[in-house]
Amino acid sequence: RVTVIGSINLDTNLRVRKMPKPGETIHATGHYSAAGGKGANQAVAAARSGCKVSFIGGVGNDAPGSEMLNLLKKEGINTSGIITAPHESTGQAFITVDDNGQNSITIYAGANYAFGPNEVVQNKALIANSDFLIAQFETPLEATIKGFEIAHAEGVTTILNPAPALTEIPADLLKLTDIITPNETEAETITGIKVIDEKTAQEAAAKLHQQGVATVIITIGAKGAFYDYQGQYALIPAFKVKAIDTTAAGDTFIGAMTSVLKPDLTNLKEAILFANKASSLTVQKFGAQPAIPFAKDIKLVK
Ligand code: ADP
Repeated sequence: RVTVIGSINLDTNLRVRKMPKPGETIHATGHYSAAGGKGANQAVAAARSGCKVSFIGGVGNDAPGSEMLNLLKKEGINTSGIITAPHESTGQAFITVDDNGQNSITIYAGANYAFGPNEVVQNKALIANSDFLIAQFETPLEATIKGFEIAHAEGVTTILNPAPALTEIPADLLKLTDIITPNETEAETITGIKVIDEKTAQEAAAKLHQQGVATVIITIGAKGAFYDYQGQYALIPAFKVKAIDTTAAGDTFIGAMTSVLKPDLTNLKEAILFANKASSLTVQKFGAQPAIPFAKDIKLVK
């Protein structure tokens, strides 16, 4: 059982030949919309990997909001902890990709910031009944800290995905974090160490241990994922595949890993291997949630 405190976005993806300059109007050559938001992506990844998932978050009282809620319900996710904000719109991300594969993204966070510690306290039972609580940085920090405090008191393992990167993570939050899962850029922002391989990942992990986080997992794109836990560490290589769109690779990794991880973390290595398999499927498809795989397909990856 997993609870996610996190963001819910409607992603609008536009394909263009060249990025528009300020003042310029251009035609897109392709368009699609899909559900996204790091929190929702991680919840969907955990659910598709076979986990019971509850969500704490916010949507607006608008069409994208009811669409996103319905999509999460269809995944079997418990949405009772999602508030509908009366005066905010649902979070939206506008993603433009040019013919060189360069992207530019504008996010309106909207209802993702329309809840706080009080709403988390109201959903205390969801957290208390979970094995894991996952959060990211696309929702209010005070809400995450409150959630992690509850988790800590209830013996629930906390997983912090520090994305998008923050230079200063509150020390209080790190002390309440059992597992931190930055990617290489986020690891660099937090620790100042450029992570490119096992050695540099271990240096970055050492800094995070000093700040009170016992288990560090750093994803390094096509190189795989590094873990450092109870004096054991290793880089588990990624699967060799042809990546066409890495959106939600990290989110898939976290959801899939959590769904198979034992609360005492004794199978961390196997969980990371499963997560590498899952995200190797995600990078071979376009979009965020449409690309997230199901357990039966993940198990077939060799
Ligand atoms: P994020 O999406 O947060 O930037 P990463 O790029 O580190 O995260 O990717 C997360 C995981 O997805 C990696 O640890 C790896 O398992 C998988 N992955 C990412 N890119 C590739 C790739 N090109 N080929 C195979 N697996 C990949």
